[in-house]
Amino acid sequence: MPADLRINARWVIPMTSASSNVLEHQAVFVHNGRILAVEDAATSTREAAQTIDLPNHVLLPGYINAHGHAAMSLFRGMADDKALMTWLQEHIWPAEGRWVDHEFVRDGTQLAIAEMLQTGTTTFADMYFYPAAAVESVLATGIRHVSFTPVLDFPTNFAQNADDYIQKTLAVRDQYKHLPLLTFGFGPHAPYTVSDGPLREIMTLADQLDTPVQIHLQETAFEVAQSLEQFGCRPTQRLAELGFMTERVSCVHMTQISAEDIAILQRSGASVVHCPQSNLKLASGFCPSAQLLQAGINVAIGTDGAASNNDLNLQSELQTAALLAKAVAGDAAAVPAAQALYMATMGGAKALGIEEHTGSLESGKWADLQAVDLSGLAQQPLYDPVSQLVYTGSSQAVTHVWVAGKLLLEQGQFTHLDADKIRHNAAHWGQRIRSA
Ligand SMILES: [Zn+2]
Repeated sequence: MPADLRINARWVIPMTSASSNVLEHQAVFVHNGRILAVEDAATSTREAAQTIDLPNHVLLPGYINAHGHAAMSLFRGMADDKALMTWLQEHIWPAEGRWVDHEFVRDGTQLAIAEMLQTGTTTFADMYFYPAAAVESVLATGIRHVSFTPVLDFPTNFAQNADDYIQKTLAVRDQYKHLPLLTFGFGPHAPYTVSDGPLREIMTLADQLDTPVQIHLQETAFEVAQSLEQFGCRPTQRLAELGFMTERVSCVHMTQISAEDIAILQRSGASVVHCPQSNLKLASGFCPSAQLLQAGINVAIGTDGAASNNDLNLQSELQTAALLAKAVAGDAAAVPAAQALYMATMGGAKALGIEEHTGSLESGKWADLQAVDLSGLAQQPLYDPVSQLVYTGSSQAVTHVWVAGKLLLEQGQFTHLDADKIRHNAAHWGQRIRSA
């Protein structure tokens, strides 16, 4: 039986290890949405119903954006250059109270997905209210999605108290869990916004349902100082004592890290999601990613929301991660390009608990792929495709994106999304929010 698709690529990076082996002149076969085989293009005799030639391109797994708040794209550029607490308390929380509802989340998430697809992302994690509205946009676009419904002690437009958030998390999961593009988990917002009871309950439920959990953790020095005052210990230690730190948890930010925190991360198998641009923009601190990787901790990369980044371009994020790691470690050899690429693909898949399904080009996994044209002037001369991908702003050169074998971006154009309509919709929201 012929495969559905054969993609002939000049280079293929399977991302099966952090050394990012580059293969040349390969044919990648896709069948029923999954990778069937990666074979030498010249000698392969396997048949396919359709063939796509990518003579100047590198084919690799789509990026995995391991943390964000997609719908906040509609707040992009609304309140820049503010301190974290001023930004949150005076700008973001009031705007959310005023504007966030089902339509806002549906439209904002669609804008976010369009931007992510154009820059090579095939899976995104999302911690935001009205998850069913986000799912609507996910299903309309065909991207892969890991939904972490937020849980907070206090009320928002979306829910009244921790129990209400948890019930809503379970409800959306029950409605959509049968769809293979979707994974549902819990997103307790942060140790300073969720008390011990709900944190314990979330872990019990997550174990029962076998779902991932994501939390903002040790984003700022202030958060750590407050926890020491209130609980007599650092946030990570408090979570460990609650039985919260396990391998199903991804800890977002971790800009403040002690030796004890590292030991807890190591023992628990929890992942860290590094969001360097958001941390830089909000002056939150620096996640010591090289130190974490050296300790054997899985590190993924996330953009965070567009209100604190201000883009959702994972290539630019992993470039920043690779550069920042060197400055923080005082070592130009820290987080080499190949390792940054691994964090943005398999590192993300592991952090989200979906490494069996995506994150690398291996037979049996979903065909979540991106092709990048390396013939541009900015990529010449070409010694090493990995270096060009990581250090030369290569997101401009993404030509093709597939999710579960479905072509969503072709020669830089959406196959079934209407960019004009999305632009018009975003402008309309901007108009309403600006004139309020
Ligand atoms: Zn965040």
